[in-house]
Amino acid sequence: SRRFWVGGNWKMNGSLASNKELLEHFAAATPSGSAEVVIGAPAVYLNQLAQIVPHGWGVAGENCYTQSSGAFTGEVSPEMLKDVGANWVILGHSERRAIFKESDEFVAEKTARALKAGLKVSVCCGELLEEREAGETQKVVDRQLLAVVKALSEEDWENVVIAYEPVWAIGTGKVATPEQAQEVHQAIRQFLAKNVSQAVADNTRIVYGGSVNPKNCVELGQKPDVDGFLVGGASLKPDFVDITKARD
Ligand code: 13P
Repeated sequence: SRRFWVGGNWKMNGSLASNKELLEHFAAATPSGSAEVVIGAPAVYLNQLAQIVPHGWGVAGENCYTQSSGAFTGEVSPEMLKDVGANWVILGHSERRAIFKESDEFVAEKTARALKAGLKVSVCCGELLEEREAGETQKVVDRQLLAVVKALSEEDWENVVIAYEPVWAIGTGKVATPEQAQEVHQAIRQFLAKNVSQAVADNTRIVYGGSVNPKNCVELGQKPDVDGFLVGGASLKPDFVDITKARD
């Protein structure tokens, strides 16, 4: 039984004042009790979020480094995320891979380190439009996830959510169809069965990200292998709460 999981990824947005206002809206709108909900925000706001998110919601960093501390100017460690009240971290987002040139191996190493530090990880994967058009979607996703598989033990998977986020659907308004999402999610589950174990394949949440909104979330959420969402733009609006209820 995979508990429905809905993450908000605020990306590089927010302010002390706007965060407070939005979270007050979320709390007032009585969010889903059945879904696990996590909000990802810039590291500087995590301490604030940890104190004011609705009861039971998690808080996620959007990145971290592989070391606990030291001469790594500008970086934030998994231990620091925990220290300020985060219990999750989003790793391997396509924006980090594309803009900050993060490799599959680096993402995998960070995932292993964050788990060791006691964080839960939402690790992202997904293909570019050119890759989909070339018929390489599964090859790309398998390559990204194989690096993660190699870096983790079987027990680590208990604390991992896989976010499948086709890059062409991120911030574009061009959402994957429920059938397109289901096809890739099912293939990812088969990949886990083959490369980790059947139990990990059965128990790992695989969530969809890319232009999810309150209108399209119900149909996507009905697909058997879609275990939730990672939501960008729509997580900055009060009706994000409706997305947390997609499966209710
Ligand atoms: P949008 O929901 O804005 O398309 O972003 C998706 C995303 O990147 C979540 O991590």
